[in-house]
Amino acid sequence: MKFCSDCGQPVERRIPPGDNLPRAVCTACGAVHYENPRVVVGCVPEWQGRILLCSRAIMPRRGYWTTPAGFLENGESLQAAAAREALEEAEARVEIGSLLAVTHVLHAAQVHVMFRGRLLDGRFGVGAESLESGLYEESAIPWDDIAFPSITFALRSFFEDRSAEWERCTTTISSGQFATESSLNRH
Ligand code: ZN
Repeated sequence: MKFCSDCGQPVERRIPPGDNLPRAVCTACGAVHYENPRVVVGCVPEWQGRILLCSRAIMPRRGYWTTPAGFLENGESLQAAAAREALEEAEARVEIGSLLAVTHVLHAAQVHVMFRGRLLDGRFGVGAESLESGLYEESAIPWDDIAFPSITFALRSFFEDRSAEWERCTTTISSGQFATESSLNRH
């Protein structure tokens, strides 16, 4: 942020009284503009043992594969957002299940939250933000061409749990190109 969204004047980064981190503070009206991580939410949609993947039609990582996921909107629950993204990106109606994986993407100031999901009728298509989509067996997942480390992490967690016949939520921290897998929250 360079300019105040309240009055349009320049902001400067300084620590406001009583705070302990630098903030964007308006040089004219004094408004403090807090910048906090954004939430990306999605699901791993399953249908008869196979997983629905889409290849991205948009940057970043155009042409690489992902499960449906996107930014949480104001006034929306995590589950509603995950279902909406599946509809938008893969034209799939999905029942959202248990919480699967949380990745703290520190360098991008994002939190990625992934759920399990189940296709309601097995139907899917290609949404505006996708080049193609398809259902993949575990052995056919294009691991080298997955768009983001958080998606790889969620898919690996999904298959690990499915073969162990339990459903956990696993947390990890990604501070660079690659996720550091640490199982902080296994239960
Ligand atoms: Zn201002």
